[in-house]
Amino acid sequence: MLSKKMEEAINAQINAEMWSAYLYLSMAAYCHDKGYPGMANWFTVQFKEEQDHATIFFNYVVSRGGKVTLKAIDEVETEWASPLEAFQATLTHEKKVTSLINNLYALALEEKDYASQSMLHWFIDEQVEEEENAHEIISQLTMIGDNGYGLYMFDKELAARTYTQASPLANSAE
Ligand code: MG
Repeated sequence: MLSKKMEEAINAQINAEMWSAYLYLSMAAYCHDKGYPGMANWFTVQFKEEQDHATIFFNYVVSRGGKVTLKAIDEVETEWASPLEAFQATLTHEKKVTSLINNLYALALEEKDYASQSMLHWFIDEQVEEEENAHEIISQLTMIGDNGYGLYMFDKELAARTYTQASPLANSAE
């Protein structure tokens, strides 16, 4: 059984993951509007991954006999100065998410909730990847600068990103 405190904290995290999904969908809309369909694809994959994260937490609360309570999703930004700025905002946001996951883990330690600690390991690893991905794209876009051909080619590269269901969900489907 989940403690009330842990249940509330994970419910807040479900909201944060849904907000992340909404943020990335908004960035996809921005990229489409600016003529970067490949970058829009990258953000759309990101959007789906965030929905997966929310679903993993949702399923976990249910499996521990807790109650999922959904709250309103706050409004997100709709404009950025450039694609580079959108990816910089992505990195800043992912660093914030990392600290939220770390806080959840700290609570699980405090409560001696070993099942929640185990579930959170996947998210801790996932955040390393999220930050690394955003960081790499920022480096590349910084290098490209205002070079139109460079942006065109890089957009084509990001068009190749494909969505695969997050492994905790894929495993539970068996
Ligand atoms: Mg996430």
